[in-house]
Amino acid sequence: MKDLPLGLFIIPDTGLEMRLNTAKSLNITTAHVLTPPRNERTSDKIQLLMDKFNEANVEITILFCGFEGESYASIAEVEKTVGLAPEPTCHARLQECKEISDFARALDVKILGMHLGFIPEDTNSETYRRLLKQTRELCDYCHNNEQRLHLETGQEKAEVLLGFIHDVDRVNLAINFDPANMILYGAGEPISALRFLGHYVKSVHCKDAKWADNPGQDWGTEVVAGQGDVNFEAFFMTLEELGYRAPLTIEREISGDKQIKDIENTVLFLNNIRNIL
Ligand code: MG
Repeated sequence: MKDLPLGLFIIPDTGLEMRLNTAKSLNITTAHVLTPPRNERTSDKIQLLMDKFNEANVEITILFCGFEGESYASIAEVEKTVGLAPEPTCHARLQECKEISDFARALDVKILGMHLGFIPEDTNSETYRRLLKQTRELCDYCHNNEQRLHLETGQEKAEVLLGFIHDVDRVNLAINFDPANMILYGAGEPISALRFLGHYVKSVHCKDAKWADNPGQDWGTEVVAGQGDVNFEAFFMTLEELGYRAPLTIEREISGDKQIKDIENTVLFLNNIRNIL
């Protein structure tokens, strides 16, 4: 664990430079980056983005897909608006995923990450079958760009996600495991989910959260790492057991000075745990 690089989830908006400076000052050398909107993906802007990350000595390890119209306001809104699951936007978004894969290739990024949206438990449903087909198509597109696709956890139980991955049946499909999402969505106890998903977990978010009173209906609450219900010691020990060798990427989904302060505290917290394991 000690030798794994730390990472930071970075949204490249107006706060980009502040976040890169924070990464640099905390010896964070890798990042998961939310893809900028389409009009920011021109070749001159790609170069500018690369220059900024190179100057900060931060390697982009994953580009995350995000789409216009997505809302994380409530679990019900996520179901209606996020990822490829909602039918009305799924074809345009699949096309945009392919564009993002090409954008990632231009940045020399080898992994695409995304929330697929809620995968239905009913494997005979139309949505499940469509998601299978679209995920295969995207995996094959990424494969041609020499990339993997990592699905982020949380919106469904680990059993549903693993069954879906087996059904997609593509070698470049893997998981970005976010323990806090399991709690926020009420999708299951994170450490047993991690053990269950096993070797498919090829990237992680170090994020913490508290369970809602009615898990699965209401949002849990995201908090700074160490103050929530994720057992980070067990999280790291399980990753070690699984032979996990990728960055430990800190995610704190707030902005401004409090985000920076919380990232600093998270680095201290994670390093303390890493030093005693
Ligand atoms: Mg996450």
